[in-house]
Amino acid sequence: MLNAHTLQLDKEEMKQFGYQVIDTIVDHFDTERLKKPVTTASREEMELLLKIEVPEKPTNYQDVLDFVVNKVFPYSDFFTHPKSYSFVPGPSNYVSVMADTLATGYNIFSGGWAGSPAASELEIVSIQWLLKLFNFPEKKGGGIFTSGGSMANLTALVTARRHQCGDDFSKAIIYMSDQAHSSNIKAIRVLGFKKEQVRIIPTDIEFKMANNKLKNAIAKDKLEGLKPFCIIASAGTTNTGTVDPLNEIATICKTEKLWFHIDGAYGGAAILSKKGSQLLKGIEKADSLTIDPHKWLFQPYEMGCLLVKNHKWLSETFSEKPEYLRDIEGNTSEINFYDHGIQLTRRFRALKFYMSLKTFGLNAFKKAISYSIDLTEEVESLLRKSPYWEVISPATLAVINFRYNPIGKSYTEKELDLINQSISKKVIESREALLVTTVLQNQVVLRMCLINPRTTIDDVKETLLLCESFGEKLEFNDLT
Ligand SMILES: *Cc1c(COP(=O)(O)O)cnc(C)c1O
Repeated sequence: MLNAHTLQLDKEEMKQFGYQVIDTIVDHFDTERLKKPVTTASREEMELLLKIEVPEKPTNYQDVLDFVVNKVFPYSDFFTHPKSYSFVPGPSNYVSVMADTLATGYNIFSGGWAGSPAASELEIVSIQWLLKLFNFPEKKGGGIFTSGGSMANLTALVTARRHQCGDDFSKAIIYMSDQAHSSNIKAIRVLGFKKEQVRIIPTDIEFKMANNKLKNAIAKDKLEGLKPFCIIASAGTTNTGTVDPLNEIATICKTEKLWFHIDGAYGGAAILSKKGSQLLKGIEKADSLTIDPHKWLFQPYEMGCLLVKNHKWLSETFSEKPEYLRDIEGNTSEINFYDHGIQLTRRFRALKFYMSLKTFGLNAFKKAISYSIDLTEEVESLLRKSPYWEVISPATLAVINFRYNPIGKSYTEKELDLINQSISKKVIESREALLVTTVLQNQVVLRMCLINPRTTIDDVKETLLLCESFGEKLEFNDLT
């Protein structure tokens, strides 16, 4: 029976409920490949299905669960699906799903040392693993797990500003390329910078931040009496996977005494592969580095991470000492993570990272990441051999951009944009694959981010065939 006033189920009910939840999740993992990755529904449809007044009276938990399984989950895209190619997918893994369930089940407070010394220690240990992987100083370095890359970038920029500018940032200027992720601009806005304090540096034909233009911008700002304080480089742009020239930017930061932040939210994980670590050379020179374990480190949402060269930069930025927390201050080696970032109450994110690495082993992660990089290269050579496709940006850190442009037809640029937009629309309508467009150098292109280790070359071939069939049919239509 429901013990309503204490918000409890009895023991048998808890078990029944719990087993069903696990059965549902396992069934989803087992049959996902047979499901469609895409859904679409309008606000009206969702209102009809889901809108109710606050339920005053209880409902049997079984009915509530059935409702959720049948009416809620079917109306979500599955970013874990092997044919989910768009944005940056979140392939996830079952061990971490269970770890998240455990962390929530015990409702561990992961804010301060006293609340859970073990949770804090596991976060310290996991952060140290990451520091080592990225060649950051293990002893002096530090970091924190966040809800995602956006929060990691925000945390980094607060820290950079505090360290470089103190309280007066009226003349501070920050630099990033036109391919930098939008979360950086959002963070800058949250921080209260004016638009005039941001320099968007153009990229070269390979979508890399143009160094000469960066240097010119810094020199000009200095001449005008402004105070350059930070450069944000991308280690894997979301659009093309491009890595900015990290070593050169590091040199500029050193000469000009600027903070070097690298946004490696999606691409950073590639350090675990041979090809990736080649491309990411210089990443160890950052003062702060964002990575996003809920992308290419296969963690379920939400989990981002910020690493810094010196852990004191975080505590100097985020420590406040209110009287109600004084009894839980530990000694200096005992980290209170609420002193290293924005959140006080934090869920136990480290657990999933720790458990999945321990269960599968680092080598499994290395193989999964290398597999995706190789797969994307295979897709590139497939596209280059085909009369239908044109590669617009080559396979880089498991991202590739291409467009339908069959030889023998001389479509105008405008027609090509319309055709490729339309192919994506038809693919989405078919619900067979999640494949949307992006715009590169004014061209509408199809973009695949192939970081799911369960995506096979056959999955991609099937999707390309589907696209070609849509493309061919379109040729007979009037495109204007
Ligand atoms: C995804 C991404 C972000 C934002 O991370 P969230 O986890 O979505 O908040 C930031 N930068 C880059 C390069 C990304 O790919």
